[in-house]
Amino acid sequence: MTLGSDGVRRYDHLMIDAILSRASEGGRITADEAVLLYESAPLEDLGAAADAVARRLHGDEVTYNVNAHLNPTNICVVGCGLCAFAVWTDHDPRAYAYSVDQLVDRAQELSDLGITELHIVGGMTKEYTLGYYEDLFRELKAALPEVFLTALTAVEIDFVAKLERISAREALERTMAVGHDTMPGGGAEVFSPRVRRIIADRKVGADVWLDIHRDAHEMGLKTNATLLFGHFETPAEKVDHMVQLRDLQDHALANEHPGRFQAFIPLPFLPGNTEFSYLPGPSREEKLRTIALSRLVLDNFPHIKGHWVMLGEEVTSEALSYGLDDLSGTLTEERIAHATTVQTPLGLTHERIRELVTAGGRAPVERDSLYARVAREPVSA
Ligand code: SF4
Repeated sequence: MTLGSDGVRRYDHLMIDAILSRASEGGRITADEAVLLYESAPLEDLGAAADAVARRLHGDEVTYNVNAHLNPTNICVVGCGLCAFAVWTDHDPRAYAYSVDQLVDRAQELSDLGITELHIVGGMTKEYTLGYYEDLFRELKAALPEVFLTALTAVEIDFVAKLERISAREALERTMAVGHDTMPGGGAEVFSPRVRRIIADRKVGADVWLDIHRDAHEMGLKTNATLLFGHFETPAEKVDHMVQLRDLQDHALANEHPGRFQAFIPLPFLPGNTEFSYLPGPSREEKLRTIALSRLVLDNFPHIKGHWVMLGEEVTSEALSYGLDDLSGTLTEERIAHATTVQTPLGLTHERIRELVTAGGRAPVERDSLYARVAREPVSA
């Protein structure tokens, strides 16, 4: 680092090049180095290093799955400022609440689209108990035994466990006994307590989220992790979030836990219809920088997944050269991101996802929820 005659600190490009070179070869970078890269590395150089990592791990392949969302209710007592999806009570005209039977019927209709996964997350209210989810998973597995259930964020596990006055580990034992296959990565937001106080002050803290994922890994459940970025967080807070995830993955790998993180999913904040609708949301450059940085910091995560609904199709395609190697699925029935003013369609067809990947110069590969290849001719979904 040098101090210019104008008093501004300037980092040596040789230093940045050396960090990028180490990271692109799979070497570990420190939190300080990651902040330096985020703030000062040329975007194209950051992207090229992340692309080198993604290609070393996955070649030209970009995976995706064919899935649908079931969001049992939008009534939620947590009331996060960041949320455009939830309503406080069933008196709100926008409120909805599905029974187990209604969701099983809908899942059976959706199965005609060739889905391999149901992604089940929703609002938290005392009617949606652990028993409700046990019934739901049991019924879904009876009706659609081949379909994976990616369900219940750590925040939801904590909520249903507290309703039942049991530990999160006991709640997971019960859901896993009736077909809970993998856990999504939602609810992580940004681990910084400062930022959580602004955007989600009643949501459980990072320590609870991390503890439940640690439990899940020990118990054999594969999970994902998200970062909601582009609102109030600083680059250092963004990096700290990634480093805490990297540390937890190190723990799972060092202890040979049967579960671990499969994918990191950087989610750009969509301010529309939230308490923070005055914010602009992250720029294209912020999205690409965050994706590329995550590929370099999370050297022990197999996949960096693009949630195309929130990134937009254009940035998703571009980001395939900035470290993305995996896409969220066809997402039929997605309601949560679509409660904002997002412009992306409600679900992409199987063919459109493949076109998106091909347009980004990569080879599309369908996978299941555990990243095994799915061999079939492309179908409309
Ligand atoms: S973000 Fe999740 S926990 Fe927060 S209000 Fe929305 S549904 Fe509830």
